[in-house]
Amino acid sequence: MSFIARIFQRLSALAENLLSLLFPSLCSGCRNHLNSGESGICSSCLYRLPYTDHHLHKDNRIAKHFWGKVPFHAAMALLRYKKGSRTQKLIYNLKYNGRYEVGIRLGNMMAERLMISEFYKDVEVIVPVPLHKSKERKRGYNQSLFIAEGLSAILNIPVNDTALIRNIATESQTLKGRYSRHENIQHAFSVVKPAELSGKHILIVDDVITTGATITACAIELQQCDIRKLSIAVAAGAE
Ligand SMILES: [Zn+2]
Repeated sequence: MSFIARIFQRLSALAENLLSLLFPSLCSGCRNHLNSGESGICSSCLYRLPYTDHHLHKDNRIAKHFWGKVPFHAAMALLRYKKGSRTQKLIYNLKYNGRYEVGIRLGNMMAERLMISEFYKDVEVIVPVPLHKSKERKRGYNQSLFIAEGLSAILNIPVNDTALIRNIATESQTLKGRYSRHENIQHAFSVVKPAELSGKHILIVDDVITTGATITACAIELQQCDIRKLSIAVAAGAE
């Protein structure tokens, strides 16, 4: 990317941040005004989002990220993720502009699908992928926790965001290649309260999946404490 293009990208990201801060009543996907009753995402975006049917098929594109890497029961993404898409805008606003309500709304929609799926019926604990404490302090929140809360509110299953922690403040994953990304993330997580998870069906939750390296690293740690089953649900997944 050229210097000019990079400056332009920075400026447009800055403008996007400012708009979201000044106008929280705008849709996080298209910037149209939200009507009363709409939260974070307008009805038009909700209608047009690229939903998957992963909750109905175990053999899906997200599950393939984990085959042969870690034992798991089922995996799904609510939306397909592409650069420059409406989905990317939603996730960006959730992650960097404090639009928590987007995370909760996405979690609600994921829950509606998991409820009618035969694979997630006996989930007992929802575990959001943790951020390192320093990163969480800087950002002010963990975006995956809001998705987990949105799931929990509909499924009536508790969230546990203290049993699994992130030990290493890894560098921005987006700046790294696929190989170093795996190297970078291994051993980044620890289970500090195994008794709260052992013997249970855990649903691990994140905002976006790209290579699956982060969730694989979490899953490897979770398997150490004798969990019964592990399933995976993310708001958006690159295919
Ligand atoms: Zn919209």
